[in-house]
Amino acid sequence: MKHDLFVQTLINEFHERKLAHAFLVQTNQYDKTYNSVLNFIKMINCPSVYKDECDICNLCRLVDSGNLPSLIVIEPDGNVIKKEQLLSLKDSFKTKPVFSKYNIYIIKNAELLNSSSANTILKFLEEPEDDIIGFFITNNKDNVMETIQSRCQILFDYYDDVSYLDKLDLTLVFDFLNNYKQAGLLYNKNYLISKFESRVDYLNFLKNLFYVFEHLLDVSLNVTDLKYIELSFLLNKGSDYYISWLNLISKYLRRVNYNINILLSLDSFVLEAQCL
Ligand SMILES: [Zn+2]
Repeated sequence: MKHDLFVQTLINEFHERKLAHAFLVQTNQYDKTYNSVLNFIKMINCPSVYKDECDICNLCRLVDSGNLPSLIVIEPDGNVIKKEQLLSLKDSFKTKPVFSKYNIYIIKNAELLNSSSANTILKFLEEPEDDIIGFFITNNKDNVMETIQSRCQILFDYYDDVSYLDKLDLTLVFDFLNNYKQAGLLYNKNYLISKFESRVDYLNFLKNLFYVFEHLLDVSLNVTDLKYIELSFLLNKGSDYYISWLNLISKYLRRVNYNINILLSLDSFVLEAQCL
């Protein structure tokens, strides 16, 4: 089963017992991210051996129907998330969870927390209890109160539009990876710069590179067979390696949307990639 990158990150942390207490997830597709979070919640709480789409146990059914008492979802009331909503959340979580391992809250549109509602929830973030986990979902983490941002592990859930995959041209990415194989990453900077005419070229390059590492991750997880012989030298590096590439690429993908200097961005991208 293939999971979103950010869910795979959560699963890995969970298995390594390094799960954070609060996550800020930036997404470009709210519903997909929300569903992924729900699936993850089922996965870590399910009393059976969790299979995707578990529909045999009561707990997973309660999550699906929105009736699990230890899962609280907060949506904005009008244009704002009100302090009262968070006060009642705090109240509910005074007691330990009964049916599940964790008390979990999800805050949708976290950018709509204002300073007084954000302050109400700071105690959860500053003195985390082992059995409370929070997810803040937003379309732009930079619009979320700094007090929240700084206390959460930040994750990105990025979806391509499907039409884009039809136009996929991986030549540049294969060249990039081949240069990498032959001469290391730094050589790539000059090569790429000569190929980019605009921000869009850079954006497409990053998207294609993302696609390629996602494919390698799928191969490493036995979800699919290798489609491109050009990538065989990157096989067997372990899923963590591909995930670090994907995280790095997502970071730069977001930045392309800002008014960045492409040369500088590429410069630091290549430097950071070298450390992976
Ligand atoms: Zn279940």
